[in-house]
Amino acid sequence: MRVTWAILMLLILPLSSMTMLQVDHIPEFSGTNAMAHLVAQCDFGPRPPGSDNLTNCRQYIVEVLESHGWEVVVQNFAYQNVSCANIIGWHGSLRNATMLVGAHYDTRPLADEDPDEANHDKPVLGANDGASGTAALLELVRVLPIEVRDDVEFIFFDAEDSGYIDDWDWIVGSTYYVNQLDSNRIPLISSMILLDMIGDSELRLPRERGSTRSLQDEIWSLAAEMGYQDTFLDSLGNSILDDHRPFLDVGIPAVDIIHNPFPSSWHTVDDIPERCSAESLQIVGEVVETFLVTHSGVTTTFPPDFPVTFYVLLLGVTGVAALFAYTRLKSE
Ligand SMILES: [Zn+2]
Repeated sequence: MRVTWAILMLLILPLSSMTMLQVDHIPEFSGTNAMAHLVAQCDFGPRPPGSDNLTNCRQYIVEVLESHGWEVVVQNFAYQNVSCANIIGWHGSLRNATMLVGAHYDTRPLADEDPDEANHDKPVLGANDGASGTAALLELVRVLPIEVRDDVEFIFFDAEDSGYIDDWDWIVGSTYYVNQLDSNRIPLISSMILLDMIGDSELRLPRERGSTRSLQDEIWSLAAEMGYQDTFLDSLGNSILDDHRPFLDVGIPAVDIIHNPFPSSWHTVDDIPERCSAESLQIVGEVVETFLVTHSGVTTTFPPDFPVTFYVLLLGVTGVAALFAYTRLKSE
């Protein structure tokens, strides 16, 4: 009996300490920082394609990316005689990330869903629809651990939200981006995560119907593990024409994280920062950060603020316990 006990102890102790050593990544994403990026974009005013406000916002995005050490390419293109530009941020010497994270940064030129018809020819400020996804990306570029960065590319799409206005199509920027992708690179891309309308203070994220189910399962179950099942709802939402579609069309697994049914501020003059919250941005940011870290080929990430001495001590205690067990075993 005693022998069994001692052998068990010998086996279990090192095992349990190994399990404890596999510490999960602790997200550093700050909803407050993201909210500041949301407000900063709105401070430029409405940001429809081709506007000076959007040019100023683009400059802001480029500056944030560069200040955190990311390489930046502004991908210029023309659509209906309007100059447009996607912004691409990547890290390292090669642009060969396997995970893409995107958001549109333009805003709708007309508030044509506003309950007051007098507002239909006014522009949308786009705190939620435009600024929220972009804001989360701008905070992610700060918090992503350095060893993960080469595996992640951020894309800020232009010209997503002008559909049905002056013969414009939807998702023009993302369509252009995918058309420009090197065909050799496409099969190497494992995921495309799109963030759109994630800032509303009463955020509801059912599963978008057109997204890649397996990838969506991973993200939604991760969110549930993190305790966010009241936001990432395990129910099927609508099918939405959004910037993830061109990626799906070329076979890239893609997921749209989007509030639906759309909040009442959607395409109205009421899409303002006051309708958004740092908490909503925090939830989505933490989930996406954790997904990127756990899927980047890095299996274990030690929390940076956790002292190494703890692990040394843990190993020491395990060793002493093992020695104690061994002594007991010998004295049988
Ligand atoms: Zn929109």
